[in-house]
Amino acid sequence: MKSMESLLARIRSGTLPDRKALARLIAAGAADAALRARAAEFARAETERRFGDGVFIRGLIECTNYCRNDCLYCGIRRSNRAAERYRLTKEQALACCATGYGLGFRTFVLQGGEDAYFTDAVLCDWIASIKSAHPDCALTLSLGERTMESYAALFAAGADRYLLRHETADSEHYAKLHPAALTLAARLRCLRDLREVGFQTGCGFMVGSPGQTAETLAEDILFLAEFRPAMAGIGPFIPHADTPFAGEPAGSVELTLFLLSLVRLLLPDVLLPATTALGSLAADGRERGILAGANVVMPNLSPREVRDKYMLYNNKLSSAAEAAEGLSDLRRRLEAIGRRIVVSRGDYAPK
Ligand code: SAM
Repeated sequence: MKSMESLLARIRSGTLPDRKALARLIAAGAADAALRARAAEFARAETERRFGDGVFIRGLIECTNYCRNDCLYCGIRRSNRAAERYRLTKEQALACCATGYGLGFRTFVLQGGEDAYFTDAVLCDWIASIKSAHPDCALTLSLGERTMESYAALFAAGADRYLLRHETADSEHYAKLHPAALTLAARLRCLRDLREVGFQTGCGFMVGSPGQTAETLAEDILFLAEFRPAMAGIGPFIPHADTPFAGEPAGSVELTLFLLSLVRLLLPDVLLPATTALGSLAADGRERGILAGANVVMPNLSPREVRDKYMLYNNKLSSAAEAAEGLSDLRRRLEAIGRRIVVSRGDYAPK
């Protein structure tokens, strides 16, 4: 285990291990609490050096749960006939932003399934309206795969950031998680297009998705180190009863925390959320995520009546500190771990 500690120290000093060594480190981290604690300690120190005690907040607006895709893990996949579908109106989305602005949010995230209703014209109109109502705010989109022309139009309309998890950097694993129509090559093409167009671009992956191994996770880490995203979304897989993965076990909170720490050490400036999935699996998941290197939380700003319908996995949190109106609860929880909410756009600012 001494060799794993020295590998960690090397990562901390900026050396990227090869795939085999990374896989060994990840497997060791899954089994060894002391190694995870050491990684969290290094990552926390790095986070504090870069960001002090500040945590950025993003108001998440889940604008539609219609989706043309059929990702095997996802509760809003096309084939889930049990999902009750909804789509917000532009007025509803603007009302969410207005509420959020009053609460102190300066970044809004529009997230949804790949819904044909959201043509470029519709989205550009939404983006222009949100940005003209809140010119001092950043707007992040998380709406899946689109063409380069589409991404360029959305950026020109004023959107600032785009989140598109790569899900797994191993193409065989990708094929186990997605129908044949979706490929890793297409996903990576989108990520490169997004960056080319000018977006602050985020990628990321689930921890514990079916078929994942220490080797595929090592590929994910290597991909992040090469792509150098502005944001990285990393949360545990949680099964949804109406998907083909209903009987699969959830990912591990501990391994997710270890990966957050490794990512912080490899990409010190990255914006790294303590995800809703992490908070859904463990009552103190969000706080532990922050203490392991995360520096962003994304409370839910969606209208209450749709929150239960955006059910990507079972038992997804959407109330208390997870909800935007529960910001005082979140503030208290963060203060208890020596952190405070920052009211600013919180752009990616590599040193
Ligand atoms: N449609 C857009 C996309 O695919 O990027 C945005 C919405 S998608 C539902 C957002 C993310 O939710 C996915 O990237 C995936 O990693 C995560 N997700 C979906 N199902 C999940 C599950 N069962 N457990 C944990 N995370 C899940």
